[in-house]
Amino acid sequence: MLNLTDSAVVRSILAKHGFSFSKNLGQNFIINPDICPEMAENCGADSESGVLEIGPGIGVLTKELCLRAKKVVSIELDKRLLPILDETVGEFDNLKIINADVMKADLKKIITEEFGGMPVYVCANLPYYITSPIIMMLLENNPGVRAITVMVQKEWADRITSPVGSRDAGAVTVAVDYYSQVQKLFGVSKNSFMPAPKVDSAVIRMDIREKPPVEVKDEKLFFALVKAAFGQRRKTALNSLSSGLGISKDTVAHALTQCGFDTNVRAETMTMEEFAILSNLLFNSPK
Ligand code: SAM
Repeated sequence: MLNLTDSAVVRSILAKHGFSFSKNLGQNFIINPDICPEMAENCGADSESGVLEIGPGIGVLTKELCLRAKKVVSIELDKRLLPILDETVGEFDNLKIINADVMKADLKKIITEEFGGMPVYVCANLPYYITSPIIMMLLENNPGVRAITVMVQKEWADRITSPVGSRDAGAVTVAVDYYSQVQKLFGVSKNSFMPAPKVDSAVIRMDIREKPPVEVKDEKLFFALVKAAFGQRRKTALNSLSSGLGISKDTVAHALTQCGFDTNVRAETMTMEEFAILSNLLFNSPK
C-alpha cells in the first residue's frame, strides 16, 4: 500500500495524474503520519460502525478509517481525485466513494441506504471555506450520526470550545453547545499539510446530545436572539436585541429585568440558560 504521508510519494502520484491543488476547494492534504491514525482512533470507528468522511482528498485519512470501521462512505466533490483514490484506497472492499457536493447531497438517504442501522460517525479534515456551513448542517438536520470528529482551523476550534458566556464564545459556540458536547482533541501544526496553509489547525469532537441542555419554547426565536446578541458585540443587549429582533426596547428591557439583568448587560456575557430564559420570556411578550 502506498505511503500517503511521504511527500515524495504524494508528489509522484499527483504528477502522474496531472493533479494540481485547488485553493478554492480547500485542498490541503495531511502528510504528518501521526494525525490520521489519531483521528481515526478517536472518532468512534470500530468493526461494528460506519464512518462518513467528507473530502477524502487522496485518501490518507480514508485508509485509516477503512482499517477500523465496518464501512466507510467518503464524499468528494473534486472529480479529478477519483482515479487517484482508486489507486490509493481502491483495494478496500468496505469503502464507497461518492462524487458529490456534501452541501447538496441527501445525507439522510445516504446514511440509511449505506449503513443500514449501524452506529454512524463523521470523521473529516474539512475544507475550511465551508467549515461552519457543514457543521451547522450536520447539527441542525442531524442525518443520523452519533459524533462528528473534524479538523478545523485552530481559531475556529478555540471559539467553539470556549464556554458560552466567555469572551471568545460566539453565536456558533452557543449553537454547537446546544446540539452537542464538544471537546478539543489535539492541535495540528500547519506544517502537517501539503501545501501548508497559513494557519494552524485542531481536531475537535462533537458528541450529539440526546436532548438540548435547555428547554426553549421556540428554537427559531432562540437562535435569532443568539445571532442578534453576538451580531453587534459592542452594543448593550437592550440595543442589539431590540434592533436585531425588531422588538421594542420596552419589551426587551422588561424581559431583561425579569431575568434579573441590568439593562446595560452585554449579551456576549450571557450563559446558555440565560439565553433560553430570555428567549422564552420574549416568546410570550408583545412586540
Ligand atoms: N482528507 C484529505 C486529507 O486529510 O488530506 C483532504 C482534506 S482537504 C482539507 C478537503 C477535501 O474536501 C478536498 O479533497 C476537497 O476537494 C474536498 N471538498 C471541498 N469542498 C467539498 C464539498 N463541498 N463537498 C465534498 N468535498 C469537498
